[in-house]
Amino acid sequence: MAKRPTCVKVGVDLQPLNTLAIAAQADYFARVSNVEDLREVLLWQREASLSLLLLGGGSNLVLRGDWHGLVLQFRDTAVSVVERDGDDVLVRAGAGVVWHDLVLHCSAQGWHGLENLALIPGSVGAAPMQNIGAYGVELESLVESLDVVELSSGKAAQLSREQCQFGYRDSIFKTQAAGKYLITAVTLRLSSYFCPVLNYPALRDALPSENPSPQQVIDTVVAVRQSKLPDPAELPNAGSFFKNPVVSSALVDRLLEQYPDMPHYPAAAGQQKLAAAWLIDRAGWRGKGLGPVAMHDKQALVLTNPSGANGAQVLALADKVAQDVAARFGVALEIEPQCVGGGHG
Ligand SMILES: Cc1cc2nc3c(=O)[nH]c(=O)nc-3n(C[C@H](O)[C@H](O)[C@H](O)COP(=O)(O)OP(=O)(O)OC[C@H]3O[C@@H](n4cnc5c(N)ncnc54)[C@H](O)[C@@H]3O)c2cc1C
Repeated sequence: MAKRPTCVKVGVDLQPLNTLAIAAQADYFARVSNVEDLREVLLWQREASLSLLLLGGGSNLVLRGDWHGLVLQFRDTAVSVVERDGDDVLVRAGAGVVWHDLVLHCSAQGWHGLENLALIPGSVGAAPMQNIGAYGVELESLVESLDVVELSSGKAAQLSREQCQFGYRDSIFKTQAAGKYLITAVTLRLSSYFCPVLNYPALRDALPSENPSPQQVIDTVVAVRQSKLPDPAELPNAGSFFKNPVVSSALVDRLLEQYPDMPHYPAAAGQQKLAAAWLIDRAGWRGKGLGPVAMHDKQALVLTNPSGANGAQVLALADKVAQDVAARFGVALEIEPQCVGGGHG
């Protein structure tokens, strides 16, 4: 059997590595920054039959319990231009780049498209996982391709945007290809021509001008986010805890009779998207908690964990909120972060 690589540590505390500050331990933990070291660790992990958890910035994870296996972080932080094609600039960023740093770097270089996605926590490598999005822009509109390593073989491959099967907070990495790949780099098609996306009212209304500069868009997105969302460094959370539910238009019509002020947005044919925050608020959970965890008082969609409670306590509140929303509105809420560990990993 292969010797344990020197970068693999034993018994590592995961609480500082997840933004919900859930108390949990990893049996083994490794941080690597190139594909050669990654293959060595993966070979050892397979031979030792350890279950594997890929970790980025830990901002979209609920650790149900300790991780009895290997937690692996891939930290390539290189950013480079791979091609220029007219106004288009193809930028390749390593999985370990902090997402917000990439947004700032690209804007400073005059490569545009990422401005609305400023201040989303986490790493570049995890961004395709749930097709991150904010203020009218989703990652999928900018992805050219992904570099991946197949976990079972260590083989490198490239996936096109189409192969990623992106959807709302969804991708093939959550469905058919769950647990199959580690994303090592993301190549984005950006533009040297700035064409702001201003169709999101909360952003448009807060901008200082109708023709904002890229920096004004970034600054405004940052300010709006900071006014609405708690900073995980001060109040541990994982951002939106539930997806906005997509339901039938028939159900929306029935609900509107009872709740005429209920926000609803067009989705696929015959369906509409509801605002999970509104449903949770109206179910009476904004600012309310269960044990040591609570739904945030300014943004009902954000579950907060001020005293580092464990995953079971976090999920007990989530279950209760979802049950109440289902009982009151007949709408099923789905948890947005990935729930892992505690015997289910
Ligand atoms: C305050 C706050 C605000 C947020 N706002 C938004 C928002 O506006 N829009 C939005 O879309 N999201 C938002 N999020 C969620 C989160 O920021 C994103 O999902 C982000 O992409 C997670 O990145 P991460 O590196 O922290 O991933 P992690 O939490 O570490 O991992 C998330 C998932 O990706 C997997 N993963 C991690 N790295 C890799 C890799 N290299 N290859 C393959 N799989 C990998 C993990 O195994 C896990 O399943 C918010 C979170 C917080 C805390």
